[in-house]
Amino acid sequence: MKDYLKHPIFSIISQSADESNLRAYVIGGFVRDLFLKRPSTDIDIVTIGSGISLAEMVGRKIGKNTHVSVYRNFGTAMLHYGKWQIEFVGARKESYRRDSRKPIVETGSMEDDQNRRDFTINAMAISLNKDDFGQLIDPFGGLTHLEEQIIRTPLDPDITFSDDPLRMMRAVRFASQLKFVIEDETFNAIMRNAYRINIISKERIADELNKILLSPKPSVGFKLLEKSGLLALIFPELEALKGVDIREGKGHKDNFIHTLQVLDNLSRNTDDLWLRWAALLHDIAKPLTKRYDSKQGWTFHGHEVRGAKLVPRIFQHFRLPLNEKMKSVQKLVLLHLRPIVLSEEGITDSAIRRLLFDASDDIDNLMMLCEADITSMNAVKVKQYLRNFELVRNKLKEIEEKDRIRCWQPPISGEEIMAFFGLKPSREVGIIKTAIREAILDGIIPNEYQSAHDLMIQEGKKLGIYPINDKRKIDFLKINH
Ligand code: ATP
Repeated sequence: MKDYLKHPIFSIISQSADESNLRAYVIGGFVRDLFLKRPSTDIDIVTIGSGISLAEMVGRKIGKNTHVSVYRNFGTAMLHYGKWQIEFVGARKESYRRDSRKPIVETGSMEDDQNRRDFTINAMAISLNKDDFGQLIDPFGGLTHLEEQIIRTPLDPDITFSDDPLRMMRAVRFASQLKFVIEDETFNAIMRNAYRINIISKERIADELNKILLSPKPSVGFKLLEKSGLLALIFPELEALKGVDIREGKGHKDNFIHTLQVLDNLSRNTDDLWLRWAALLHDIAKPLTKRYDSKQGWTFHGHEVRGAKLVPRIFQHFRLPLNEKMKSVQKLVLLHLRPIVLSEEGITDSAIRRLLFDASDDIDNLMMLCEADITSMNAVKVKQYLRNFELVRNKLKEIEEKDRIRCWQPPISGEEIMAFFGLKPSREVGIIKTAIREAILDGIIPNEYQSAHDLMIQEGKKLGIYPINDKRKIDFLKINH
């Protein structure tokens, strides 16, 4: 193991600790990842005594330009060394009150510090002082649990989870990231304490959800959230997708299982968090739009429109950014049926142009989402869908090369229409602009300036408006700029 600690930063910490008469240990995620051979750049150092003094000493040894950030209120300090981010803290003991996740923190022993850790695999420490450099301190059998691939708490799980309910989300997240199993006692305690999750902030819950979404097979995490009872509390809209209704012998897919399948399919092809969010939310409004009709069976008409409307609300709830990324998720949810409908109803040039225009920069992501959305028990059906889908892809490529519609703006802008007719911003401008756009998308006129200009004049006539002369046009532009 000493080999793993060959990096110069560890000998600098070791010397600094010896010279300051402090015991120092590397602890937690870094040690876990060392054994898992997962690259990790966050190092947590615990010292018996002042973490701040040790950090300052290490900073001095590294050199003048090293900046040590000190957080006196928390008794911690942090510095950067190359790609490493190193945090120093004195060993501590934590005690909790039931109504708050903020613990009462006191100075403690190494044992106290390891007791307050969430899981045995996260509670291992390695000594850094010269006399026992590299010695593993593993009071709860974390190394064995790493080998057995299990997640369990160091102490009574009911206490661990009740003290800090975020740990329940962390258990699920580690199971999903590492493909480990949550040991039975620990899992049962999550079920018993799930209701306590309501004292945790939405941001911290979302952090864990994002990590689950970014794990290799996110369905693992979401199934555990569901089974433990956490999902119903933190994300009822997703929980509502669960289950199958049967009427007159007709059932529908379980939309929860389907969503997770889509998410896993997609995750094999992309690590993009927001695209994974789009997969998670693509059918989110199905429960709201579910209807039964004896002729058609089960329908979910308009679920893509209702779903797109829910996206900002869900992002806001989890304090996720309400920016371009959210808009892109929203657009993917709104358009997720389009390529498939195209493949079923005939792939006309104008339908493809429309899709390219509507999806714009998100077209590749939309195609990836749609392909992942092809799930069925019937392998022949899936094959046929995928074949049709390939045709849509080819046609998209062909039309894109020919017409360059992606990220396209019609050749005549609203401003030009106003200048040409001497109009103020008004309904008429919108009508003419839309008519030009639609005519190009439908292939009625080519995608070029002169044809659009001619159409503008014709559309104006229909509305009883006519061009103004050149001088007035120039004056108009001057006034409106
Ligand atoms: P990641 O870096 O993937 O988020 P991690 O466990 O490596 O996960 P941190 O979340 O920074 O990194 O936590 C570092 C260590 O602090 C953990 O390994 C664990 O020992 C401890 N820890 C973190 N959060 C908690 C918690 N809520 N309860 C108890 N111990 C915790």
